[in-house]
Amino acid sequence: MVIILEKNATEGQIEDVIRHLESYGFQVHKSTGVERTIIGAIGVQPNFDTRKISILDGVSEVYRITTPYKLASRSFHEENTVIKIKDVEIGGNKVVLIAGPCSIENEDQIFRMAKVVKDAGGRILRGGAFKPRTSPYSFQGLGEEGLKLIRAAADENDMLVISEVMQIDHIELMEPFVDIYQVGARNMQNFSLIKELGKTTKPVMLKRGIAATIEEWLMSAEYILSSGNRDVFLCERGIRTFEQYTRNTFDLSAIPVVHKKSHLPIIGDPSHATGLRDQVPPMARAAVAAGADGLMIEIHDDPENALSDGPQALLPSSFTKLVDELRLIARAIGREL
Ligand code: PEP
Ligand code: MN
Repeated sequence: MVIILEKNATEGQIEDVIRHLESYGFQVHKSTGVERTIIGAIGVQPNFDTRKISILDGVSEVYRITTPYKLASRSFHEENTVIKIKDVEIGGNKVVLIAGPCSIENEDQIFRMAKVVKDAGGRILRGGAFKPRTSPYSFQGLGEEGLKLIRAAADENDMLVISEVMQIDHIELMEPFVDIYQVGARNMQNFSLIKELGKTTKPVMLKRGIAATIEEWLMSAEYILSSGNRDVFLCERGIRTFEQYTRNTFDLSAIPVVHKKSHLPIIGDPSHATGLRDQVPPMARAAVAAGADGLMIEIHDDPENALSDGPQALLPSSFTKLVDELRLIARAIGREL
């Protein structure tokens, strides 16, 4: 249930509404917007008489929410969520650029790639230290050593770090090294992991599961939000379809759908979505045109010898050229990059 307070509702009236809701057994989440306060009341009570709340002083409207997610829903939080990390904003007018190699391979490589990202105007460096590989025989990542390297490379270039967390006991280990935890497609419904991430204070980027509907994806975001962490953004990375000519099918339409259904920022990952270098720039351009709040792009300067995802990595020169094009597209729709 969502309770919209009157514009001039007093603190005392708001407190009274909260007290009533709690006494009826609801879990209460308050969202204070520029215009007015909205209260989300969570609890399954199909027969609850909403008039018990609508008659209270200061209450403007009461709605039952039929979507299974509440905190992630735009009806609970009208304004876009903007996540602020140092001087970087995710979900604001600026389209945020996240780039870097698929995996952190060695010191030279991550420092070289950090400089490429920085010079192109990127603010967030990506690189996996713990890799979810389809084959147990493939490179599994450098672990903590890799995290130290990516942190140092990002610091030298005044950038933030995002890296994938695959299991609960790595959350603490990663904490000093990352600014954003990445939840990979394969872990979108690892409920114990995402609930634990909900208890942390760092933003979480939640990738869409390989075969997840948008509703299931938003339900996973709801797990993180309801565990206490409100800094969640989504990443469309392609879904599995019958198509064979791409690694996945980039669901561009997820971008406007998420913007309509949710207040959470959504970025696009054309690298994993297509799996092939030549398809990355067109899909990156399309994602910005579709309104993505950011992009995550994999790059490598020796993709043939990359330890993971070489075929989808852009060479530094193509990446830089692409970013110039993206800037024009962002400007055409009233945004910056
Ligand atoms: C990655 O970002 O390198 C990755 C493994 O992505 P995904 O979880 O989308 O497959
Ligand atoms: Mn990858």
